Amino acid sequence: MTAESQIAGARPRLVDAKRMVIKIGSSLLVDDESGLLNRPWLDSLADEIVRLRERGQQVIVVSSGAIALGRKYLGLGPAQRRLEEHQAAAAAGQVLLAHAYQDLLGDRNIRVAQVLLTLDDTENRRRYLNARSTLDTLLRLGAVPVINENDTVATNEIRYGDNDRLGARVAEMISADSLVLLSDVDGLYDADPADNPEARLIEEVGEITKKIESLAGESSTAYGSGGMITKLKAAQIAVAAGCATVIANGRQLQPIRAVEDGGPATWFIPRKTPRAARKQWIGGSLKSCGRLIIDAGAETALVKGSSLLPVGIVSVDGDFERGDAITVSDVQGREIARGLAAYSSSDARKISGRRSDEIEGLLGYTGRDEIIHRDDLVLLDG
Ligand code: GLU
Repeated sequence: MTAESQIAGARPRLVDAKRMVIKIGSSLLVDDESGLLNRPWLDSLADEIVRLRERGQQVIVVSSGAIALGRKYLGLGPAQRRLEEHQAAAAAGQVLLAHAYQDLLGDRNIRVAQVLLTLDDTENRRRYLNARSTLDTLLRLGAVPVINENDTVATNEIRYGDNDRLGARVAEMISADSLVLLSDVDGLYDADPADNPEARLIEEVGEITKKIESLAGESSTAYGSGGMITKLKAAQIAVAAGCATVIANGRQLQPIRAVEDGGPATWFIPRKTPRAARKQWIGGSLKSCGRLIIDAGAETALVKGSSLLPVGIVSVDGDFERGDAITVSDVQGREIARGLAAYSSSDARKISGRRSDEIEGLLGYTGRDEIIHRDDLVLLDG
């Protein structure tokens, strides 16, 4: 989608999305009665993924369904709902789930990669940077990442509880411009459609106000832990990261096409682009843990939009880890930029002033060429 359409607050179109996260709820993937995978549905989704990719769009799938599939597979009864039984079910079901994606997308010559994340991976910046670059690399290599929560290691406290929020965190992490939350509801209604025939679907939400939140109620489905409230929370996270979010019903086949054709859905519209949101996050909200002092050549390169290479570093102040926020200043101490460090302060000291092709010899591993990548860097005015 173009930056202009987002800034103007116009309703984005899925056909314009460059990087789309599609979150799929358990109730779509797993048949209510049999507890088995709904293969025809996933087959039709695979066709949709082919169509999106042929248009040049990048697709990331966040899929639930492991616990539901695993419960049936392990023969767990309705009473067996302890955390460790859920986690065992997730371990077994995740294999079935990943296999189904690999099978159906493989039939269409698309490679699939499984990524299991926990809340910690998106909130701890070191892991976050790794997960972000793994996902970027997978996309560059043309694979479809299929993501789920790493349910077997998650504890009660750090569980996402719902993959809606995981979908939003992933969208934020990889600067996606669109998040599609597919579930078994058409979107957000102004009253509960189950007991009010007059209930109207809200097509567009510019801002998630208290009033909008109050419309979400406490709904939940048999499988999956998310209801409308978790979808709203997800939309809030994604929209703040500049990612347009749409809640739509996935019950039918080809649900993405239905949204494209203007079918029932609720859109949440961001006011900024993912890039602007990320720059704002790096520039403003992070506490700085250290400082790199750079030479005039590196400063000129930064102003032109390049990344910061170790060769331009004169000295390193403070004690920071990879992924921490740091400031960049010139030799007079004037602050020029802020960014996320690709190296810890001790490694940064070892490679400062050296060429990137010397990094492996100096550190004993092949790290990034840049000490701060340009996507992780914000220039300060003045
Ligand atoms: N991670 C869970 C699963 O794969 C689903 C969580 C959710 O439905 O939000 O079964």
